Amino acid sequence: MSATSRSDIARYDIARYDIAIIGGGLMGAALALLFCKTLPGRRVVLIEQKALESASDQALATPNFDARTTALAPTSAATLRRLGVWPALAAHVTAIRRVQVSDRGHLGWVRLDTDSNAGEPLGYVVENRALGRALTDAMLACEGLELKAPAQVQRLVKRQGGVRLELGDQSLEAELAVVADGADSPLRRQLGIGEFSKDYQQSAIIANVRHEQSHGETAFERFTHHGPLAFLPLGGPDGRTSAVVWTWPSLQAEDALALDDQTFLHHLQSEFGYRLGRLQQVGVRQSYPLRLCLAREQVRSGVVLMGNAAHFLHPVAGQGYNLALRDGLRLAEVLQSAGAGGLGDLALLQEYERRQAGDQRNTVRLSDGFNELFRAHEPHWILLRNLGMIGVEWSVTIRDAFIRQLSGRGSRRANPWVRLAQDS
Ligand SMILES: Cc1cc2nc3c(=O)[nH]c(=O)nc-3n(C[C@H](O)[C@H](O)[C@H](O)COP(=O)(O)OP(=O)(O)OC[C@H]3O[C@@H](n4cnc5c(N)ncnc54)[C@H](O)[C@@H]3O)c2cc1C
Repeated sequence: MSATSRSDIARYDIARYDIAIIGGGLMGAALALLFCKTLPGRRVVLIEQKALESASDQALATPNFDARTTALAPTSAATLRRLGVWPALAAHVTAIRRVQVSDRGHLGWVRLDTDSNAGEPLGYVVENRALGRALTDAMLACEGLELKAPAQVQRLVKRQGGVRLELGDQSLEAELAVVADGADSPLRRQLGIGEFSKDYQQSAIIANVRHEQSHGETAFERFTHHGPLAFLPLGGPDGRTSAVVWTWPSLQAEDALALDDQTFLHHLQSEFGYRLGRLQQVGVRQSYPLRLCLAREQVRSGVVLMGNAAHFLHPVAGQGYNLALRDGLRLAEVLQSAGAGGLGDLALLQEYERRQAGDQRNTVRLSDGFNELFRAHEPHWILLRNLGMIGVEWSVTIRDAFIRQLSGRGSRRANPWVRLAQDS
């Protein structure tokens, strides 16, 4: 009988996977489902440092499924339908059938409706918590997917043919580590991957607001003295609640949070006007510091950064998660063609990066440009943005291009789902 050393035993104890996803936020969870669907037979593990919340749980500490809402582009809704999570979301989703964009105190004005989008909704608003729970429930039902939560990845070590992940008292190995651990991404730092960062010196104040009139499935984007202000419809077609995302200069955001509800509502009403009648009630307010953060490398041999870890955008155009889902589709598509080099093959991952670069570049420019253009107070910028709005309002060509980009159909190559759906 051959002697087995302690290190051999430790080696054999290490679980091996094809793909390990680090981070079970909205991105990590969607990726896990995507891989289950498009890469059958692959062993996938998702590791999340907080407990995952399922629809039957009440008040667990959870990943970042916070009080926010997410505006989903139609392409993202199609992805979530294909992943099987849409039915569980039905009661928490409100369609956006109309969009009104305006600039406080100026003439520019844009109205979009379903006619500008072949009769289809322009997007959907979903509560993050409901989306997170639906994704968790779908993951629990997914064969071939293992969930480790709560469990924290403390170290990612590159090794021959993949990576080793150290989770405190256990380790595991995978051909490919998908790092979706958020905008601050401790693992990105640990890997020594730099970031391009631009501090907007702004914070997004979010809250749900109850109003006198029904929103009629209309989303409003208004450019105010403080910064862009969005009202996103909640509670179905006749809802009288909207999710407000209001950008403020960081230095003043704390003051805005400290205002009593009536004074806050008064400020909000004077910036937004009476499009929804009187603003009656505001829920808990929270603020999120805003910056643009782009990883300087998104792929290395055996490693790919996804979601906020790869790019964290200004929320003004509601693009962060939508772009991340398109990245996920593209990655899954490329991984389907993995050859002898395995899933972590650098050339394969670079192919993903190359194919998705255009979509990422355009979306980053759109989000950043929107914010810069609509926060500016100089007369020439005000003129430019109002001319832009008039262009979108009156020119079918400009309007179509605008809607295509916002709805995730910016480039013909932007949505590989059709091909994936045929393959899976
Ligand atoms: C105010 C605001 C409004 C937004 N609105 C929109 C919108 O309308 N539309 C849109 O498309 N996008 C929007 N976004 C962007 C969107 O919220 C994100 O793109 C989306 O939530 C994806 O985040 P993520 O999963 O990549 O990261 P996160 O949500 O940060 O999740 C990272 C996860 O990783 C876990 N984790 C971290 N480290 C470890 C570790 N070492 N081990 C294990 N787990 C770990 C964390 O616990 C966390 O759960 C908005 C963003 C903001 C700030």
